[in-house]
Amino acid sequence: MYLKSLTLKGFKSFASSTTLDLEPGITCIVGPNGSGKSNVVDALAWVMGEQGAKSLRGGKMEDVIFAGTSGAAGRSPLGRAEVSLTIDNTDGALPIEYAEVTISRTMFRNGGSEYAINGAKARLVDVQDLLSDSGIGREMHVIVGQGRLDSILHATPEERRGFIEEAAGVLKHRKRKEKALRKLDAMEGNLHRLDDLLAEIR
Ligand code: ATP
Repeated sequence: MYLKSLTLKGFKSFASSTTLDLEPGITCIVGPNGSGKSNVVDALAWVMGEQGAKSLRGGKMEDVIFAGTSGAAGRSPLGRAEVSLTIDNTDGALPIEYAEVTISRTMFRNGGSEYAINGAKARLVDVQDLLSDSGIGREMHVIVGQGRLDSILHATPEERRGFIEEAAGVLKHRKRKEKALRKLDAMEGNLHRLDDLLAEIR
């Protein structure tokens, strides 16, 4: 599995549709300060379902939409941001029967996000489920931004275990177990309530 291409349109400084074709192995993005290198990494996290505006270096989620530029060659703000990530899945690392998987996310200024997997409308949870087996989770520990290294080095043993569990794909099962236990608890409460009602009827 490797990231094959990333297309940004209306995302942060990328007003026009821009596609980055990636190859297996190491990819370096070089450019002057402020040219948009970190925005590319933000787009990667965003399309994979990142929900925190702060993780994307913004105040609110809407800040990911191209806000316009001033000057002679200035451009007006856009109404939506779109990012598509194509992943090569010939080794079947993602639990989906396609050799190539494209995840897309679109956000409008006036509303939430829409997701699609290979062109079919999907929910955030579908994207998270698809990626979590590959070790790319909701918390995005696979993306280590500037300054994040310090927080990982200073993490408590519990937090460090969380990083490892997420990378190993264990976290997904732990979350499912917690959800099932909550349901069992609720069911237990219902059974008690039923017992009370039956006792009242008798
Ligand atoms: P450095 O090397 O200094 O870390 P960089 O190449 O990583 O820089 P980025 O932080 O990716 O640069 O890009 C910053 C640029 O993106 C700034 O010029 C900023 O104005 C622009 N930018 C960020 N959000 C938006 C937006 N919503 N609309 C338009 N431009 C934006």
